[in-house]
Amino acid sequence: MSFNLPDLPYPYDALEPYIDVATMFIHHTKHHAGYTNKLNDSISKYPDLGDKTIEELLGDITSLPSDIQTSVRNNGGGYYNHSLFWKIMSPNGGGEPSGDLMEAITSTFGSFVEFRKQFSHAANSRFGSGWAWLIVVDGNLKITSTPNQDNPLMKGLVDDVGIPILGLDVWEHAYYLRYQNRRPAYVENWWNVVNWDEVAKRFKDAL
Ligand code: MN
Repeated sequence: MSFNLPDLPYPYDALEPYIDVATMFIHHTKHHAGYTNKLNDSISKYPDLGDKTIEELLGDITSLPSDIQTSVRNNGGGYYNHSLFWKIMSPNGGGEPSGDLMEAITSTFGSFVEFRKQFSHAANSRFGSGWAWLIVVDGNLKITSTPNQDNPLMKGLVDDVGIPILGLDVWEHAYYLRYQNRRPAYVENWWNVVNWDEVAKRFKDAL
């Protein structure tokens, strides 16, 4: 069993000017590749794990051999989180969702503007490195955030467990080259590349 670094679904410069080409290149070929390789190194010691999916591994970390739990949490989390992150962005992104997802956002948060405000707040107020998430819990939407490479699949390890349908990387490696310390500017610009078609697909699958 091993995991492969997925290709980006667009060129490295496709998200300019909101996310710069150098950041995208380093983020994918160094950071994401590093998590992938370290995850594979860890699980290679235990062929008995069989063909578990990354979701299965992350959903039951505390049952894994104790010597690889931390590595699977950090590197498996990094593998999964970035695989999702590339897909929920697009050079043709931005704007607002439509259909069932928009209805759910409006009924949960009051309006799309209010949703954006609350999600941005979750991203900007996450101290240190981590992620902001929109998740589905028992058919309902919820905003949450996690430290490091944790994510809402990690039962028993995080505050809010659910299925992530949108995630925003707020590690400095995701924005420092262009935005330096200005995380709120990165978060504000990131809305211009959100791939709502992909988020809507994930919402439907999570119901
Ligand atoms: Mn990252």
